[in-house]
Amino acid sequence: CGIVGYIGTQAATEILVAGLERLEYRGYDSAGVATVDEGKISCVKAKGKLFNLRAKIEQSEYKGQLGIGHTRWATHGKPEEHNAHPHLNTDGTLAVVQNGIIENYLELKEELVSKGIEFRSETDTEVIPHLISVFLHSSSSLMEAIQKTIDRLEGAFAIAVVHAENPYELIVARQQAPLVLGFGQGEFFCASDTTAILPYTRTILNLENGEIAKLTPLGVEMYTFSGDRISRFPRTLDWNP
Ligand code: GLU
Repeated sequence: CGIVGYIGTQAATEILVAGLERLEYRGYDSAGVATVDEGKISCVKAKGKLFNLRAKIEQSEYKGQLGIGHTRWATHGKPEEHNAHPHLNTDGTLAVVQNGIIENYLELKEELVSKGIEFRSETDTEVIPHLISVFLHSSSSLMEAIQKTIDRLEGAFAIAVVHAENPYELIVARQQAPLVLGFGQGEFFCASDTTAILPYTRTILNLENGEIAKLTPLGVEMYTFSGDRISRFPRTLDWNP
């Protein structure tokens, strides 16, 4: 029910978990994070409170400066660890978190299963990493593969995606579910709600419906779902939370 994403100069994991803690009020039944480091994705998930996720994370060191995190409020698939986000593609090179509901996921799942893809969860969300993976074969960029995937999705959703082979990109999209971008010094954030990122920056921009953004360590590019470039000024929040 909450998304946080980070790309920048610091280790992502702590920022992601701290951000998820600030979104706890939204309610959740499980949580997870995925980070990208040295061409690999590390994904950790836990059922129940964020405390459980923290305990698992403490068992290893995560250095990646790019990552996504999620607190889940189950709509499709029981609140179990295997249904917690992030969801990965088959070879574990791509991770996706989603808020919302993909209404046509059964039809998409059937199509993917008929191509021989095995699903590891009962969620509506898992179709997304598999679709992106399929579209990557016929796309010139991760952005293009995600745009083609979004074209197939029906419902209200916000997503964040990382790919081990594009280690300098965090791609996020919004359709009827909130998503805000945060601008720091050489670091960029996304979250379901400004609360998650206020400790790091007050310069924010709301993504609108039908918009997709690519966050890199050097800046943010925004597009419509159909690929037209968009420019907009962020705003600086001047109130004390
Ligand atoms: N529909 C998704 C699921 O059940 C996402 C739920 C949410 O927004 O947390 O996995």
